[in-house]
Amino acid sequence: MFDTLSDRLTAALQTLSRKGRLSDADIDATAREIRIALLEADVALPVVKAFIAKVKERAKGAEVHGALNPAQQVIKIVNEELVGILGGETRRLNLAKNPPSVIMLAGLQGAGKTTLAGKLALWLKKQGHAPMLVACDLQRPNAVTQLQVVGERAGVVTFAPEPGNGVGDPVDVARRAIAEARHAQHDIVVVDTAGRLGVDEELMKQAADIRDAVEPDEVLFVVDAMIGQDAVTTAEAFRDGVGFTGVVLTKLDGDARGGAALSVREVTGQPILFASNGEKLEDFDTFHPDRMASRILGMGDMLTLIEQAEQAFDQEQAEQAAQKLTTGQLTLEDFLEQMLAVRKMGPIGNLLGMLPGAGQMKDQLAQVDDKHLDKLQAIIRGMTPAERDDPKMINGSRRLRIANGSGVSVREVNDLVNRFFEARKMMAQMAGKFGFGGGGGSKS
Ligand code: GDP
Repeated sequence: MFDTLSDRLTAALQTLSRKGRLSDADIDATAREIRIALLEADVALPVVKAFIAKVKERAKGAEVHGALNPAQQVIKIVNEELVGILGGETRRLNLAKNPPSVIMLAGLQGAGKTTLAGKLALWLKKQGHAPMLVACDLQRPNAVTQLQVVGERAGVVTFAPEPGNGVGDPVDVARRAIAEARHAQHDIVVVDTAGRLGVDEELMKQAADIRDAVEPDEVLFVVDAMIGQDAVTTAEAFRDGVGFTGVVLTKLDGDARGGAALSVREVTGQPILFASNGEKLEDFDTFHPDRMASRILGMGDMLTLIEQAEQAFDQEQAEQAAQKLTTGQLTLEDFLEQMLAVRKMGPIGNLLGMLPGAGQMKDQLAQVDDKHLDKLQAIIRGMTPAERDDPKMINGSRRLRIANGSGVSVREVNDLVNRFFEARKMMAQMAGKFGFGGGGGSKS
């Protein structure tokens, strides 16, 4: 899921990272690429249009922030807007003050409702609740048995009409189930309802009748993310026919293009609460718009790094350092300042691990720990300002003095100085590769 979309978005944004400054034409070109990527991923057209308009407007008026180069600013804007169309904040389940809370599931046949009932039951149980499943899908052959099976696997009770009583009335079953739940002290009731292959009036009426009978705290519209554009029309039909308070996306593990995920919330105005990504009961979790957005952007923790950099760095200092970094003029004094700024962002191993491509540098990264950095700091502090400014002047006798002054061996001082020269070279190369350090060009 989202692979193609991710690839295309990343490609569109990477073109930008090679530029020091963005013109309106650059932003328009990138916006066009993003637009194509979203449309190809089956995102609904009105959603795409609104998204592109917002990104363009914000990117063109973006204020310069010293820690970020223009490309990073655009990545940040695209990410924030993605989080926005996915619903912004993570939405938790609304539960009743007086149990039992009632959660009703609605959606087309095959959407994954019955499976979801089991997943939800297991998830609720793990949170310390005592859920009960209710079989109100009396249409589909085997639906009741299927619910009983998932209920058993989740280790929860399933309320079902006794066999042999004819087709039965789902509204009546729902009512009796609530009474039973109250009696047996279940604090949450999950009501599975019938689905059809297509939307029809009878289905809607039955779901609406069940809704009126059980007065649910949540009506969750369950939608198969693989049905693409149809997800939007189905969602609209359920919104108008039954009404729902939240959405559950299923089959996010499929190889579909993912447009449904990006459209449903924006089109219906209702939040996505959960996502299902497999047939097993454990393949299910709360839906987090921010995590989903960064997954779609395919930039992993790069975004976290951007955020932390924004908070930790002094704008002017960062711009100066970035310029020196890219041109290989970094001094030990800058190195010390940057090290202190970076360390404000958290333990060093975590930070380095977030860089894209960090996987390939694992061995080098393993040697970097905070104690080691403490030592480096001590050595640099033992140097005179002139030495920090021009490390080439640090000869043998100076090394001995620095070693004695900072309580380390001469070899450790040698190491630092040699590694500094190496690192200066490497950082200049990395700055180019990852688009960091274009700060000097971000002034407009
Ligand atoms: P219902 O008709 O809405 O109750 O749908 P079911 O729960 O019977 O699910 C229909 C099919 O989709 C079943 O074969 C499930 O195993 C499968 N399914 C449900 N959720 C997921 C999911 O998240 N991923 C995948 N790959 N399959 C799922």
